[in-house]
Amino acid sequence: MWSQAAGRWHAEPVNRPHITVRVPVELRVFLAADRRRESTDVVTDGASSLGHVVESLGVPLTEVGGLTVDGREVARGHVPADGEDVTVRAVSEPQQVPGAPLRFLLDVHLGTLARRLRLLGIDAAYENEDIGDPALAALSAKERRVLLSRDRGLLRRRELWAGAYVYSDRPARQLPDILRRFAPELHPWTRCVACNGLLRPADKESLGDRLQDGTQKSYDAFAACTRCGRAYWKGAHHARLESVVSDAIRTFAPPSKPHSSN
Ligand SMILES: [Zn+2]
Repeated sequence: MWSQAAGRWHAEPVNRPHITVRVPVELRVFLAADRRRESTDVVTDGASSLGHVVESLGVPLTEVGGLTVDGREVARGHVPADGEDVTVRAVSEPQQVPGAPLRFLLDVHLGTLARRLRLLGIDAAYENEDIGDPALAALSAKERRVLLSRDRGLLRRRELWAGAYVYSDRPARQLPDILRRFAPELHPWTRCVACNGLLRPADKESLGDRLQDGTQKSYDAFAACTRCGRAYWKGAHHARLESVVSDAIRTFAPPSKPHSSN
């Protein structure tokens, strides 16, 4: 049926497609409470893509690993037809992000997570001040960084290089969640937790007055940030940081087992 409104012609589908959408349990947190079931019935407008329909249900597409219709894989641009049975698949872990070395960009609310990632040697850009969603998304695209956020609106921005929703609001949960999802290489104590710069070895003399007397006497191995100059030394880390590192290594980078001969 066609009708004229405001001087333009609009298509008005007579029958709006009714589809069934199956969302895996780990993604149901994004659905409205009355849709948090194994499957939910959705009436679409007959023109929107399946990606748009899934996003409209509240699920960020950064969390979607694939879509199938009646058992057959479809692209996000697929326009669902009446009666289709859609299955949403979560991203598989470890998630591959092709096209660039794995590096992250964190929104303004994730400062603690940023420092913990850096502690493990993971490239984690973070701005102390809120530069706004468009600027963050543009930075993600420009530097090819995976944007980490708890803000679903931010994760919907089309210009993102890649993104991931941070499910927990607790840093102690956030870190293992990200390590499990992306399996980044861990290189503890190689990156400045303050500015994300790489550390280089440094001797006591070159660090000079950046060290306090007690530090000079007690510790031998020093490093300095190549970007901000901040001094680091072995053995003087806060016990909490040591435990963050040892927990991560034990869980996500265990020493490789000896090869068996058969
Ligand atoms: Zn630094």
